[in-house]
Amino acid sequence: MSPFDMLALAWLAIGALVLPAALFKTAPYGRHTVKSAGPTIPARVGWTVMESPSALLPLLLFALYPRFEPVPLVLLALFELHYIHRAFIYPFSIRAGARPMPVSIAAGAFFFTSVNGLLQGWVITHQPFAMDPRVVLGTVLFFAGFAVNKHSDRILFALRAPGESGYRIPRGGLYGLVSCPNYLGEIVQWCGFALASYSIAGLSFAVWTIANLLPRARAHHLWYRETFPDYPRERKALLPWLY
Ligand code: NDP
Repeated sequence: MSPFDMLALAWLAIGALVLPAALFKTAPYGRHTVKSAGPTIPARVGWTVMESPSALLPLLLFALYPRFEPVPLVLLALFELHYIHRAFIYPFSIRAGARPMPVSIAAGAFFFTSVNGLLQGWVITHQPFAMDPRVVLGTVLFFAGFAVNKHSDRILFALRAPGESGYRIPRGGLYGLVSCPNYLGEIVQWCGFALASYSIAGLSFAVWTIANLLPRARAHHLWYRETFPDYPRERKALLPWLY
């Protein structure tokens, strides 16, 4: 195993440890914000700053180590499609009434997206690749997850009129089945990317995404059930019919 793969494996192991910890302590942003999380910044600023490293670092690595081959170009396009949207478009779709974000959350996420941007960018510019069924299947999964994530986030934004900050029961799309289809889509997306890149680094990102979003889906689901007496009983937290 190369030193780079050992580093990626260590990062993956940390992600796997985050999962049980996050089940006990919900990340304090959005509806789970608590005063003790410290000073806050507007959500739009937080999202742009904390997601930018993953948008910019792979591009920087590609500029340093250009690699005009089909698979690296596909992987770079997938990663940038997501992160250019997440850092520079998504924040401006967030309703003005969204909860401010604790600086501590934005700082932690900035560190995460920096490490992850470097890991994925390094794989894209350095790992040997061949056109392989994994690349095709992974790309299909990526787009399926991307579509579910974006559609579900759009449903959430449409729940608030300008200036509103309250919460409503989301309906439509996969909300008929689960409380957090946006998280489900994001998880499918990065599992697809892991398959397409068939790398330990790609797998580490999928593990970190599950570690962040599975506990948060559980927390959102319990919160919905406690907050809305008429919350649909058949709806699961994250996985249709299962969980
Ligand atoms: P949430 O679903 O908690 O919130 C998304 C936005 O919708 C927020 O602006 C929120 O407002 C608003 N909102 C949520 N539910 C309702 C509701 N019932 N009624 C009205 N408004 C609502 O998602 P996150 O903020 O946790 O995540 C945003 C995106 O980032 C998602 O696409 C997620 O997949 C992705 N993400 C990816 C991670 C990864 O590890 N890859 C980690 C974390 C997020 P408010 O902020 O006021 O609650």
